[in-house]
Parts: sequence; C-alpha cells; structure tokens
Amino acid sequence: MKFFVIDNNGDKIYVTFAYPVERKSDIPYEFTVFCETCNEEKYFYRQDVRAETGTDSVIGGALVGGALGLTVGPQGALLGAILGGLLGANTDAEEQRKLHRFNEG
Ligand SMILES: [Zn+2]
Repeated sequence: MKFFVIDNNGDKIYVTFAYPVERKSDIPYEFTVFCETCNEEKYFYRQDVRAETGTDSVIGGALVGGALGLTVGPQGALLGAILGGLLGANTDAEEQRKLHRFNEG
C-alpha cells in the first residue's frame, strides 16, 4: 500500500512512514511533508492521506522470487519467478482489502 497526499497546488506527494500503517489512526493527527514541486514544507492532517495500490507488490514478488532463484540455479530462477508472481497476486488481494479499509476509515 502506498500513501499520498494532494497539496494545495494539486501536487501528489507520496508519503512513507517509518512504521507500519494500516489505518488512519496510525498516522499522526498533523504532520508535514516536503513538496519537491513547490519546494516547501506543507502541513497535512491524517484525513488528507489517501492510499493506493501500485504494481510494487508484483514487482517485489518477482524480485523476491528471482533472488531466491539465484541460490539454486536457472531452473530455480524460473520457479522463483513463478512463486514470486503467485506471492505478488496474493499480496494484491490482501492489499485491496487493506486499501479499502484504510480509505473507508
Ligand atoms: Zn506542491
């Protein structure tokens, strides 16, 4: 799950938290994010934060699989890529649920 805010200039700024965030109450009531487009620090409230899914989990899954494969040779790499793809798909379904819960909350 990726988090972002839209500032008063309409810029979409991705926000990363140093700890796991699953619901809005996990986010500080008020926080600042630096907007590189405006080149200034912006204030946001936790209710400004939106979540979205990306292709990150699929890529991550494939990478994890590929990395596993490296230790067991080319056949392993193929298996790893398949496993990684499956893991990625599962993560996507899970992420959709989390995303829904977050954006509803
Ligand atoms: Zn901006």
